[in-house]
Amino acid sequence: MSIRQKILKNIESKEFAIVKHPKKVSSYFGENTFSIPTMKKLISKKAFEAFEAWLEEGKQISLAQANEIADAMKDWAISRGVTYYTHWFQPMTGLTAEKHDSFISFSGLGKVMEKFSGSKLIKGEPDASSFPSGGIRTTFEARGYTAWDPSSPAFIIESQLGKTLCIPTIFVSYHGHALDKKLPLLRSIEALNQSAIKFLKPFGNKNVKKVFSTCGPEQEYFLIDKNFYKMRQDLLLTGRTLVGASSPKDQQLEDQYFGSIKERVVNFMYEVGEEAYKLGIPVMTRHNEVAPHQYEFAPIFEESNIATDHNNLLMELMKKVALRHNMVCLLHEKPFAGINGSGKHLNWSMADDKGNNLLNPGSTPESNLQFLAVLVSVLHAVDKHADLLRASVAFAGNEHRLGANEAPPAIVSVFLGDQLTQILDTIEKGKKSEVSREDIMDLGVSRLPAVNKDMTDRNRTSTFAFTGNKFEFRAVGSSQNISTPIAVINTIVADSLDYVRGKIDQAVKGKDFNTAVLSILADIIRDTKKIRFEGNNYSEDWKKEAAKRGLPNEPSTAAALKALVKEENIALFERHKVFSKEEIRSRHKIWLEGYLKVLEIEAKTLNEMVNSSIVPNAFDYQGLLTNNLKGLASLKDKAGLILQDAAFDDLKTHLSEVTDMIYYVRKNAQAMIKFLDEVHHEEEEEKAHRFFAELKPLMDHIRRHADALEGVVSDEHWDLPKYREMLFVK
Ligand code: ADP
Ligand code: MG
Repeated sequence: MSIRQKILKNIESKEFAIVKHPKKVSSYFGENTFSIPTMKKLISKKAFEAFEAWLEEGKQISLAQANEIADAMKDWAISRGVTYYTHWFQPMTGLTAEKHDSFISFSGLGKVMEKFSGSKLIKGEPDASSFPSGGIRTTFEARGYTAWDPSSPAFIIESQLGKTLCIPTIFVSYHGHALDKKLPLLRSIEALNQSAIKFLKPFGNKNVKKVFSTCGPEQEYFLIDKNFYKMRQDLLLTGRTLVGASSPKDQQLEDQYFGSIKERVVNFMYEVGEEAYKLGIPVMTRHNEVAPHQYEFAPIFEESNIATDHNNLLMELMKKVALRHNMVCLLHEKPFAGINGSGKHLNWSMADDKGNNLLNPGSTPESNLQFLAVLVSVLHAVDKHADLLRASVAFAGNEHRLGANEAPPAIVSVFLGDQLTQILDTIEKGKKSEVSREDIMDLGVSRLPAVNKDMTDRNRTSTFAFTGNKFEFRAVGSSQNISTPIAVINTIVADSLDYVRGKIDQAVKGKDFNTAVLSILADIIRDTKKIRFEGNNYSEDWKKEAAKRGLPNEPSTAAALKALVKEENIALFERHKVFSKEEIRSRHKIWLEGYLKVLEIEAKTLNEMVNSSIVPNAFDYQGLLTNNLKGLASLKDKAGLILQDAAFDDLKTHLSEVTDMIYYVRKNAQAMIKFLDEVHHEEEEEKAHRFFAELKPLMDHIRRHADALEGVVSDEHWDLPKYREMLFVK
């Protein structure tokens, strides 16, 4: 029996104590967060007002007030059984980082008490020398600071034997350079706020105090049994399968999408939901996705910074809870070849402090003009900065989706739907159109169409689609921290709002406001046409068409990342104070290095699998065939066994085929290791280029022959769990 077959016998779902009456969600939602209402109850009115002014207007709070908040936070946490606290942050690599400290300190000789001060709440000083800084901070200057982000509530993470208070923070170098992903996001939120408030004023929205982006990330993932996971070095070390023959049945019957959810999986979903609710994460929908054993969680949308923290937390919860159910949650973009990968559709919009969605078409003509101006500004942003959007989702895992036989492609385009397309066409032509009654536009006067809210997008292949009252950026990877893509969208839209406002300001002089706006919109609609595409983004025709239109199409991560350091893009980031030149350059460097490291780990893992499992398994089978042949030949000679020549030849051919496959797997694996050696001293950019152009094809080559071997080697000789088992044994 192969190791794999032994494992298969052990697969069973875990028994759970049956909960007869699940608790009402509203009775415990957010109970593990130090939310604003909780804080309000526990601190003085004065301190709370100071805190609010800090949040709303950026007025610094005094140390005494910070001490009061820290004290209240500590007491609240300790009353819930917390013994440690951590400044929780988002490093430039990986998901989240934490360094735990205990609340205890000595008070008098040998006497211990719990203490937590305002200065410790506001600022932490982790020894951060091991976090990559891309050249910003040298190792000897190890100091980095974490600083409290008061806009995201502190929360308690429970593990079996204890609880930790996590305080969301940013992470900066000694000189104030961002070393994390949250600070640029917060800066982009501020940039958007400033540009949007100015933009709205001429439209009659003079009292708007704040505009912020909203975000709802739809999280896709796979689940597989933990026993399989443990037996696959590739999943363990790289998060994806580097070999594996496809299962005769995978997703072709489309019988999984929205299908009934298996009990074992639904149990997992219940527990993730409960844990998420305790942390105030508004998980809303859960369902099966297209591929076997692929699922999705989608939350109710929230302010972008909170949505980002919540998505990071949710991903960690999912991984943790899956283990409790003897499963592993795979967040990689392409865990299995040949079936759908996982993405994270990023729903994005903007709202004002009164809760109005700026991308809601609305029902009054005035607000429609504003809506159209905002919409067209987004079009302009995407048209001008498609390369930055692409760069914001460029990393090794996502390279398997974008531009690699899977929707969405690496080309960024916008889908608007029939109705909006018609409306924009009308504005562009500057004349009345022949559209249905409610779509009639009387240009020049203030009558504009009441845009029907339900014109939802059913074009699932578009990279950046308008879906009724928000845009959906579909190129984001499932494992990704969404802060960078959001920061990029916020920044390019802020810039575009400034641009459009400038144009309107010029055009409006001495003219009727509506007429002036419509004429500017007409110009921009005309100029941004190349970015709009309503057809199938997956088709070869679109690739050709996009090339004709001059749209960037960069399937390679390294090539896509270059957009970050283009002169005009650095200027854009500096203009809006989102990244300084040093900050964006360091990110470019870190992400490029990250790409190289991931591919190198994958290549070495594949080599190890070839040598430790695939080839030895194939040798066993080859030995079996050889012995068979020998036995038959000797029976033929010595005992006069009658064998048809064709039958005997067939066995010989099979042995030759197996021997050939072993040869190709080994030969290419050796070539791969030689290649790694050869490029070792190459400069990073060149190395990344060669990894994409030469290493990946080599790995594919090895895989083709390894998978062919899996198809012929007998079950009892094959140790690696197979696709059909990982994807269908639930
Ligand atoms: P679909 O699968 O059709 O794309 P879902 O209902 O699964 O739709 O997901 C829609 C997502 O969009 C949800 O997470 C939702 O919270 C989010 N969303 C809805 N309105 C907004 C908005 N104004 N801003 C940001 N996200 C939004
Ligand atoms: Mg969606």
